[in-house]
This record gives sequence, structure tokens and C-alpha cells, in this order.
Amino acid sequence: MSKIYLDNSATTWLCNEVSEQMTEFRNLSFGNASSVHQFGQYAKGMLESYRQSIADMLLCEPKEFIFTSGGTEANNFAIKGYAFKQLINHKKLPDIITTKAEHHAVLHTVDFLKSLGANVFYVSVDKYGIACSQDLMRVLRECNHRVKPLVSIMHANNETGSTNDIQRLSEIIHNHDAVFHSDCVQSFGKIPLRNFLKNNLNTSLAQTELHSDRTENFPDMISISAHKIHGPKGIGGLYVSKEIELEPLVHGGSQERNRRGGTEPTELIAGFNAASELAFADMQKNYEKFKNLNSLLREHLCDLEGIIFVSGQENSLPNILNVTFKQAEMLDSEGLIALMDIEGIAVSSGSACTSGSMQPSHVLLSMGYTEPQAKATVRFSFSRYTTEEDVIYGANSLKKIIKKQLKNIRNNY
Ligand code: PLP
Repeated sequence: MSKIYLDNSATTWLCNEVSEQMTEFRNLSFGNASSVHQFGQYAKGMLESYRQSIADMLLCEPKEFIFTSGGTEANNFAIKGYAFKQLINHKKLPDIITTKAEHHAVLHTVDFLKSLGANVFYVSVDKYGIACSQDLMRVLRECNHRVKPLVSIMHANNETGSTNDIQRLSEIIHNHDAVFHSDCVQSFGKIPLRNFLKNNLNTSLAQTELHSDRTENFPDMISISAHKIHGPKGIGGLYVSKEIELEPLVHGGSQERNRRGGTEPTELIAGFNAASELAFADMQKNYEKFKNLNSLLREHLCDLEGIIFVSGQENSLPNILNVTFKQAEMLDSEGLIALMDIEGIAVSSGSACTSGSMQPSHVLLSMGYTEPQAKATVRFSFSRYTTEEDVIYGANSLKKIIKKQLKNIRNNY
């Protein structure tokens, strides 16, 4: 039976080129980047060259980029690190503004700060999951500015692919004297993070514009991760503008300019850099490919009874297509992903299984879908290795499963 992986927004496999670069690095150096001898200094030199390379892709300065264990830690660091710094300096937690469509790494971090006394505001999202800028302005006017409020709104949503215009949000947030963090885990390496690069997806072509365009509005902090772009798991990072100070969450040695203790995982960082370089070099080509695969999948699914395309065609990552069903309450939503798996297709759903029962996707609920629809969601997500055959097979399998379920229900009436 075929085994087709269409769950690349959950994670991707470590591609050969990245794996080879990690092996090459391992063969050259195992030194601790904090050691004074040559083994350590070699590792330190390599570490800083990887930091420079990733900083160039983000168009930031190397000292503004901190390696973390991934997107979850980067989100925690941005939000708690900023909040704790304000608590230390001003004896007050900042007001926090976010949306209900964020990843749990943001939502649960915000919940934690709420349990410590922070005021939390949720900006509404539209039917595509895009944050409403009017509502953001309203909330920014309402909240307490004794310490600068923190806004955390993601770039691309991991369940639907919908993308917020983070430049426009930055402008609004900065005009209201607040700080902006954006979770860019899904968009990094897939689409440019800056508007001026939109017509020029390969960032490297725009390097010459690097410093002149730093004046463009941009979040103060962004989180990224390696394993969504065929890099290793357990490594990611946080861009923090040099204007922003964070309280460290991991105390220990003086690594990462005293902002995160712990021996740097240089081999993973080598892999992170290699994966990022590959993703950025082919961003335009991959984007076109994802668009074609997305259209193909839509074409093959559009005649399926009751299908709803949750992901929009505009302002959305083309490598993600999320669907649900009008007649969702008739379907065995708990079984959908397992049945797809039996057909040989790995996909996922935003709904999570907690204590043996299926919880609806919080993202779809925030977008106004019903509970059954937020449970019967299926997310297809591609990587640069996905083929048209994979997509057609995936579409046909879903059609077969849904048709069978509807037929069984009707026969039982
Ligand atoms: N944020 C988003 C939007 C994600 O999709 C993910 C991973 O699924 C994360 C954060 C967490 O990243 P990591 O797995 O690197 O901790």
C-alpha cells in the first residue's frame, strides 16, 4: 500500500542535503562553542557564521537573533521574557493582546500570564482566521499603557494557512505605542516576511536593499523553527529587535549574550541554517509549485458533497489546504484521520484528542464554524517533495471515505 505524507505543516523529514551538512559539521567539530581552545573556537566561529546567515535571511543583525529549541520556546521566550522584564522594571505585567486562532504555544503562554494577573484581550478574526485590524485598534485604545502592551498575532496560521499582513499590523501596533510579536513558524522559508520582498520571493536577490528597508514596519519579535522546512527538530529561534529587552527564561551560562543559558547545539544549528538556505534559494519555485498543487487538490475535491474549503485562495499559504463539511454532524469526524491513514495518507486535523474525546479545532471555532465542522476538519499540507500523484491520491481517498460514510448513514435511515 502507498504511504503518502501530506502532513508537512506538522513536520517535514530531514532532507538529504541538510543531513549531509550536519554530518560534515559533526566530522569537523564537536567542540563546545564556549571553550577557549581551538576545538571550541572553531565551533564558535561556525556558530556565529550560521547566526549571520540566518540573520541575513531575516534582514536583521546577528545580535538580534537568539537560537532556541524551536518555535514553542521562541513564543514562550518572546511573551514571558517581555512580560517578566516589565514586571521587574515597572512592577506590573503588561496587557496582552492576541487572537483565539493562535498556536497553543502562544495561547497557553498567555493563559499562564493571565493566571499571574495579566489582562488579556482577544482580537476577533474573520471567517478566514485573519485578525480584524479595526478590532485591534479598538483593543489597543482600551488597554492600559502604563507599561507598553504586548501584541502576539501570528503570520501564517498552522491549521488554515491564512496569513495576516504583519507589516500593516506592525504599523497599527507601533502607532499605538505597543510591542509586536509574531509567530512566523509556518511562513518562514515559504513566503517573504516583509512586504517589499513580495514580488521578489528569493530574499537573496534583495540583499542589497537590506539596510535601507529596515525602516519598514516589522514586528519587534518573530519566532521561527527548522523542522517545518526539512531541517532538524529541536532547533529554532527568536528575532528580537535590539530595542527590546527580554528577561531570560533559561538561566545558566552566558551563551546567547546572556539571554539563554546552555551549550549551543551547533550540529542542529548547522542543519537549521542549511534548511533555511535551501528554502530561501527556491522560495519562488516552491511557491509556484504549492499553488499548482493547491489548485489541483481543490479541483479534485470540489465536487465532493458538502465540502467547505476553510483555507482561502487569497492571503493564505498555498502549501496548506484545510477542508470541512456542511453536513459535518453526520460524519464520523473522530475516524476521518484514522481512515485516511488506513488508505495510506498521512494528514491531520486541527481537532485534538483530549482524555479520549475529540475536541473541536479552536482555530475553526474562532472563525465561526460549528462544533461538528470544527471537528470534521482535514488539513492537507505539502512540501517541495510532494507530487501531483500524491495530491490526487489524497483527494480520491478523502472522497471515497466521505461518500462511504454518507451512504452508510442514508442506508440506515
Ligand atoms: N507555532 C506554529 C504556528 C506552529 O505551527 C508550531 C508547530 O507546529 C509551533 C509554533 C511550535 O514549533 P516547534 O514544534 O518548533 O516547537
